[in-house]
Amino acid sequence: MKIANKTVTATRLVEDALKKAAEFADYNIFTSLNTDLALQKAAEIDRKIAAGEPVGRLAGVPYALKDNFLSPEGHTTASSKILEPLQSPITATAVAKLEAEGAIMIGRVNLDSFAHGSSTENSYFGPTKNSADPTRVAGGSSGGSAVAVALDIVQFATGTDTGGSIRQPASFNGVYGFKPTYGAISRYGVVAMASSTDCVGFFTHTPEDMDLLMQITAGQDPNDTTTLPDFYGQKSTTATKPTIGIIKDFDTDAIAPEIKQAMTAQIAKLQKSGHQIVELEMPTLKYALAVYYVVAPAELASNLSRHDGIRYGYRNAEASDLASVYAKTRHDGFMPENKRRIMIGNFVLSSGFYDAYYLKAQKVRTLIIEEYQKAFAKCDFILTPVSPNPAFKLGEKVNDPVAMYLEDVLSVPINLAGLPSLAFPVKSDSALPIGLQLVGPRRSDQTLINFAKEL
Ligand code: GLN
Repeated sequence: MKIANKTVTATRLVEDALKKAAEFADYNIFTSLNTDLALQKAAEIDRKIAAGEPVGRLAGVPYALKDNFLSPEGHTTASSKILEPLQSPITATAVAKLEAEGAIMIGRVNLDSFAHGSSTENSYFGPTKNSADPTRVAGGSSGGSAVAVALDIVQFATGTDTGGSIRQPASFNGVYGFKPTYGAISRYGVVAMASSTDCVGFFTHTPEDMDLLMQITAGQDPNDTTTLPDFYGQKSTTATKPTIGIIKDFDTDAIAPEIKQAMTAQIAKLQKSGHQIVELEMPTLKYALAVYYVVAPAELASNLSRHDGIRYGYRNAEASDLASVYAKTRHDGFMPENKRRIMIGNFVLSSGFYDAYYLKAQKVRTLIIEEYQKAFAKCDFILTPVSPNPAFKLGEKVNDPVAMYLEDVLSVPINLAGLPSLAFPVKSDSALPIGLQLVGPRRSDQTLINFAKEL
């Protein structure tokens, strides 16, 4: 708006964003900056505005791109050594839609390698620091995205959420993070993790910005057959005084006192403004974490098998025969957490164990989906914390994978069921940011975001 009204130029906004990115270099947010191209694009937008030519809805708005989105701008590394040399010939659909509206990517941002993690410590480029306390983790896997928005370097950032990777870092850094309904936004051109739960979404300062980004990017894409027919922005979407469900069954001892307090305060606030609160029994959700850590490794092990040193990215130059090219390239190119998951995934898919693990997990997944369906017969939205703890210390959990996985207990059930969920920051007594999340039925994305505007 300010750009269109000529009170500020796109060039000025991009320069400011790049300046801030340099100021916060210690936080290790960016894997690469897009300085020259970003400034060129800004100049072009300023020229168009001066000439009275039409510009898009995001004209001149600087943004950060999670480094697992493919585009010819820079190298798409997925924060890994194996993809570090990769310059993509294609552009992800979501990126193409943002660029068509004039948004300007100022840099690619850090993640846990291949999005495997909850802290951005599993990155080949080292950890990103938390925006509120640099001795703590950024959250993950989209840690760079969350911190870039929280420190106000950019207006928004892209993310991917397979089991919480948008919502958890959003809540660790006090910004909005949205994981849409599975299939709402095309995943074409996004480095695949677990194909049955991967979602593209965003980090913003406000729900209004989230709404705009969804309007721009959601929609069916012939290049991604899992996309749903267009639904976002198609009909009126304000629920009158939605009923809010609260889940009784979570082990409350595992949840930090300040998070419980934030929940209690939010429930009181909702009651005061006339919302009915209903308690939900969802006993199957406690199996969701176990199900996720069978299903996600199975899918990601299959997806990562394409990284063999032959087709793209890094190749170990010393290997003398084909088998050792594969082995040495993958040995060097993947992080320890990637390798752990590849092994778990191939184990649960192997004959003899498939029925006991993968098939059983898929059956429990169906029960989880049904449990949510029953819950949404009793309420419009479910309110839960995003994670059991606020941002933990750097190094605290990185050598204890099970402790790290436990951080995902509140976010993964939602991905298994393909539901939309918005993490929003709440005021609390804690010195660290705290987020809660609202979960809705499939395709309730806009209603959910509109409700957050009211909150
Ligand atoms: N923290 C979860 C995991 O490590 C989710 C990651 C994600 O959503 N990409 O699998």
